[in-house]
Amino acid sequence: MDIEGYLKAMPKAEIHVHLEGSMRPEILLQLATKNDVDLPGKTVETIQQWYVFRDFSHFVEIYITICRTLQKPEDFTLIAYDLGKTLAEQNVRYAEVTTTPGLHIYGNGLDFRTWLESINAGRQQAKDEFGIEMRWIMDLARNLDSERAEELVALIASDYARDNGVVALGLGGAEVGFPPEMFEAAFAQARERGLPGNPHAGETVGPVSIWGALRSLKATRIGHGVRAIEDPELVTYLVEHQIPLEVCPTSNLCLGVFPSYEAHSLKQLVEAGVVVTINSDDPPMFNTTINDEYLHVFKDCGLTLPQIEKATLEAVRVSYLPDKRKRELVDDFQTTFNRLRGEFGIDPASSQQSPGWIEDFWAGILSREPERIRAAFQQLQDAEERSGTIQHLQRMVSEDGWAEPQRVSAQRALDALRPIIDV
Ligand SMILES: [Zn+2]
Repeated sequence: MDIEGYLKAMPKAEIHVHLEGSMRPEILLQLATKNDVDLPGKTVETIQQWYVFRDFSHFVEIYITICRTLQKPEDFTLIAYDLGKTLAEQNVRYAEVTTTPGLHIYGNGLDFRTWLESINAGRQQAKDEFGIEMRWIMDLARNLDSERAEELVALIASDYARDNGVVALGLGGAEVGFPPEMFEAAFAQARERGLPGNPHAGETVGPVSIWGALRSLKATRIGHGVRAIEDPELVTYLVEHQIPLEVCPTSNLCLGVFPSYEAHSLKQLVEAGVVVTINSDDPPMFNTTINDEYLHVFKDCGLTLPQIEKATLEAVRVSYLPDKRKRELVDDFQTTFNRLRGEFGIDPASSQQSPGWIEDFWAGILSREPERIRAAFQQLQDAEERSGTIQHLQRMVSEDGWAEPQRVSAQRALDALRPIIDV
């Protein structure tokens, strides 16, 4: 049984990774030479030694320094292509990549369209060569003033941007001193144009920041969010509303959010029924890769293989892809998991692994509206899917191992379906 081999070979979706923070040291040095930017080191080793962070603000300082090496459109094309290549080599099939337009527009004087064209050229090249699909989450740095935030959101949420791969508005940078509430207007402006909010929260600040992201920014997905564990009421809220967290364990260790993988909240969040996904954040800066993150969550955070497979499918399910494409990818991932399990000598998936299609139905259940639950059920195509769904809900109610909020939701769904089916 080769679990390590299996984890590396698994098809994956990565939904929390930064374009700028993914620059490999080799590329960083190449760009620094080309654009005549001084860095504290001239070799891969010295750059890696430089990537030791005293705290979050030190990390941001280094992040801004590396962004200075990005000046010309072709630099952006190169890093977007290189990220796609690096992810594809680790069997990532789909990625939502965060990038920070303010740094390049205000920092470098690049025009938004020229810049977006340049990253899209790299995205397309990676797709043509490696088949990897990528989309953009464009984030605001928390120290932006409100005028610039508004100006940027007008660009990020424009039809042009949305026709060219932009799928959500993010929020990044220093959490301390810059609460989500400061960006309420910017996120409302994006939402009005149909662009969902996907802020970082609950990393260097605790539950109050996550509550702020949910209430003020109406976030439907959260970057990190791992400190939710400090507030049981918040954990229940995340479960009941199925708010997914983009968990990046090694990043949290490097930035002092948790002292060790063993102390990380991931396992507790999973056991409470929170939707989690596994991600790498700024892999070279944290001396990690997405495959390393998968190994760590198995070996050090204590997730089981079915929990890791579920987190992978969740990354597709909670992505901003169209529903049809999600369904295709989920089906494809599940088929591939089964085949790879055979190849790597791992037992077939257990019965508690929920089939992909039930995840779509879940959203209807969580609405708590009987009408919507029935409508979601009626959308299931064939009799097998329907009976499988009912059996799954019944197992959730009766079997051990399901968190209380999930059990309650399953019972609620069965009650709602009783008038239209024989439960
Ligand atoms: Zn991040």
